[in-house]
Amino acid sequence: MADSRATLIASLTSIAGSANVLTAAADVEPFVNDWRGRYRAAALAVVRPKTVDEVAAVMRACAAAGVAIVTQGGNTGMCGGATPIDGRDQVVVALTRMDAVRAIDVANATITVEAGVTLAATQAAAAKAGLRFPLSLASEGSCTIGGNLSTNAGGTAVLRYGNARDLVLGLEVVLADGEVLHGLRGLRKDNTGYDWKQWFVGAEGTLGIITAAVLKLFPAAQASATAIAGLPSVAAAVALLGHLRRELGDRLEGFELISALALAISRKHPPAPDPLPGMPWYVLVQAADSSAGGALGARVEDALASAVEREIAVDATIAQSLAQADAMWALRENISEAQRREGPNIKHDISLPVSSIPEFLRNAEGALAAAFPGVRFVVFGHLGDGNLHYNLAAPEGGDAASFMHNAPLANRIVHDLVASLGGSISAEHGIGQLKRGELARYKSPVEIAIMRKLKHALDPAGLMNPGKVVG
Ligand SMILES: Cc1cc2nc3c(=O)[nH]c(=O)nc-3n(C[C@H](O)[C@H](O)[C@H](O)COP(=O)(O)OP(=O)(O)OC[C@H]3O[C@@H](n4cnc5c(N)ncnc54)[C@H](O)[C@@H]3O)c2cc1C
Repeated sequence: MADSRATLIASLTSIAGSANVLTAAADVEPFVNDWRGRYRAAALAVVRPKTVDEVAAVMRACAAAGVAIVTQGGNTGMCGGATPIDGRDQVVVALTRMDAVRAIDVANATITVEAGVTLAATQAAAAKAGLRFPLSLASEGSCTIGGNLSTNAGGTAVLRYGNARDLVLGLEVVLADGEVLHGLRGLRKDNTGYDWKQWFVGAEGTLGIITAAVLKLFPAAQASATAIAGLPSVAAAVALLGHLRRELGDRLEGFELISALALAISRKHPPAPDPLPGMPWYVLVQAADSSAGGALGARVEDALASAVEREIAVDATIAQSLAQADAMWALRENISEAQRREGPNIKHDISLPVSSIPEFLRNAEGALAAAFPGVRFVVFGHLGDGNLHYNLAAPEGGDAASFMHNAPLANRIVHDLVASLGGSISAEHGIGQLKRGELARYKSPVEIAIMRKLKHALDPAGLMNPGKVVG
């Protein structure tokens, strides 16, 4: 066994070079822990290939040795998908050295990037060409396009542009046997049978390694407007969403719900002023216009003023400068990090029909408060997409770590309610290790069976990211 491991490490070294095969415990450590600090398991090595040919050779070497691989991008995933599991020899294949922008086709409005390019670098490359890649997440400085596609990431502009799945036109993928699937096509129409690229989107590295992608670009925004509205209830937030959709059309890009407690936590780490003191709920509104001269700011202001007149919103404030807009967004984007500093929460990333969200919140709050007296609700999320980050914190002054033991019962209450209202237990973070049991519980047997058949067809030896999703 020790010999075959040593042989594999030697093969990996000959493929990627000794500087890119990490085996010392201290070097491997950052790659075998997840962002939330929930998962950790050993890896034989971390390999950092530079080219698709190196990735294919790494895959072939691991397959020949019967060793599984865990593909990793920025390691910002929320469900332990990029972390090895216990009880299996695994190699982490970290793609961050595959960081080339291969091409930008301005006339076709597409960009071809390698999987390890960060989301922020992809946005910047598009902007340099006068275009825009609209996927946007708080982790965009670290997360990679490979990770974004593999988790079908959502973020703050899904309302207008869709998830990562909607933004991809072509993929290059290394399969479990080391074959390369070439599909870097920039076509908006291609009805030639199964759309196989979509099998790998949201697959969390369980079907193949994405090495490059062709992504859709859009006209750059000529104007943008950011505002925060204070609301008496979530039902009012849903009404405001409908109102702004009517008033702004597809200029409305982001509609983020933030509870008073989520805002308070965000404002604590680091300290920040309160944009509209004393509101039970807040909505961060983002609008953009890609045509020139549209007086967008005035339009958003009028729309919010009429919402206040109609008593949908209590008050609203619109950013008067880019710095103010950034400060408003920082309050939203900082919530996950601030929560992490406060201590562990029982987290849920759920989606529901937008119309059912007030009912969900009412019923969930009642059931959870009865089960866990004093529980605190740290609620925020992409309300425009029906996506809530529904997080539970220990009662004030309580012990956060022991509160986490309530997770199984809390998950049951929340997810049963979500299922009863036609929602999903994972809106944008995926399944990873965290929600495997929940997936099996809430997907129908026929859905699970078809997912397993696809997994078996593409990865019969179970080498691709074992222990994740249905693997
Ligand atoms: C502060 C913060 C805010 C966030 N906000 C959002 C948000 O708004 N919306 C959202 O959707 N997510 C959000 N996330 C979660 C996370 O950033 C996304 O899931 C992101 O898409 C993960 O990208 P990554 O490169 O870090 O992937 P990793 O964490 O490295 O991997 C995630 C999964 O994808 C697989 N994978 C990675 N690269 C590849 C590849 N090239 N080929 C095949 N499989 C691969 C891994 O095996 C793993 O299963 C947030 C995370 C943080 C820390």
